[in-house]
Amino acid sequence: MALRQKAFKYKLKPTKKQAEQISRTFGCTRFVFNRFLARRGDSYKADGKSLTYNATSAELTGVKAAEETKWLRDVDKFALQNSLKDLDRAFTNFFRDAKKPEEQRKFFYPRFKSKHNPDHSYRTNLTNGNIAVEGNRIKLPKLGWVKFVNSRDPSGKIISVTVARDGRGKYSISVLCETEVTPYSVNTKAVGIDLGLKTFYVLSEAEPLENPRYYRSALKRLKKAQRTLSRRKKGSARRQKAKTKLAGIHARVANLRKDFLHKSSTNLVRQFGFIGVEDLKITNMVKNHRLAQGVMDVGWGEFVRQLEYKSLWYGRTFQKVGAWFPSSQMCHDCGHKNPAVKDLSVRHWVCPNCGESHDRDLNAALNIRDEALRIVAAGLSETLNAHGDRVRRLSNGAAVVELGIPSLQ
Ligand SMILES: [Zn+2]
Repeated sequence: MALRQKAFKYKLKPTKKQAEQISRTFGCTRFVFNRFLARRGDSYKADGKSLTYNATSAELTGVKAAEETKWLRDVDKFALQNSLKDLDRAFTNFFRDAKKPEEQRKFFYPRFKSKHNPDHSYRTNLTNGNIAVEGNRIKLPKLGWVKFVNSRDPSGKIISVTVARDGRGKYSISVLCETEVTPYSVNTKAVGIDLGLKTFYVLSEAEPLENPRYYRSALKRLKKAQRTLSRRKKGSARRQKAKTKLAGIHARVANLRKDFLHKSSTNLVRQFGFIGVEDLKITNMVKNHRLAQGVMDVGWGEFVRQLEYKSLWYGRTFQKVGAWFPSSQMCHDCGHKNPAVKDLSVRHWVCPNCGESHDRDLNAALNIRDEALRIVAAGLSETLNAHGDRVRRLSNGAAVVELGIPSLQ
């Protein structure tokens, strides 16, 4: 039995007083984040070392006791602690990526949070019954019972709740729960996935998946709203209106995308016992395609992440293939490498060595499937065992089993 974490999202309907308290909490978590970002930056400059989470946590206790910042005591203490944890994670990500070549970096030096950012959120944790759900209301620290639109009860044990307000001033909560899941029955079907721009993906085994029409039309509306905004004069009322509209479309596109990605990834994990996917060089792909909307790249990374943790939940084997692997250029039939296929406009090609004709994406998907199978069979790198535990092979041949739960957050 594997444990899985799942987030349930709802509309929140705070009273005026509760909304004020939520705003105060946003302000305090931002204050803590920025103050300790500066502290950690100073410490880093002074002796090349950043403070640890524990050091900042101990300092926070002092800050809360000080007369001039005692107002921090008026808000949810878990939210403040989590702000420090988020900061710590931002530094960990930054230090890890700093070792990589520049084009592979996703995380940069943490930035100060601005109150002018349209989206705000804070996260609180369940401790000693401080959070509870009863019908259409949820109990949260320092807020008491808050009304929400309960579309379906959260299932499992509550771990944390994120309270958010978007650019339109709408409130929501995301309730993270942990439940036990039963793995799907064993299945030996293997699939390779080639992710792309024209079609969302092409499989080695089944029909390709197009980006859904509703999603494409929402993207069109998004672009139009962006153009409108850029034409409006700074500081004008019409600009503000265009801004609000853009934020609304952004939120809608994000929801549609999330829904689409979840449905597609669940569907694949249900169908196939083995999933191979390319470790994407997203930055390169975006650079190569002028048409790549900034929103698309998020889609690929998130999709691969979902495939990975869902494979873990349901006892599937998931394997990434190195980004260096020539999945498109290699003929799946004879293994000949055809550099002419590097050109992204080549959709179909004939192998100069064996004469087989190929659809670019299908050939790539087949190569990805076989390479992923080869990696797992050879025990070459990271994989998942039948129990869903992560198994990492070391270069000396030993294997390390890592027990753990993939997190949704
Ligand atoms: Zn060939």
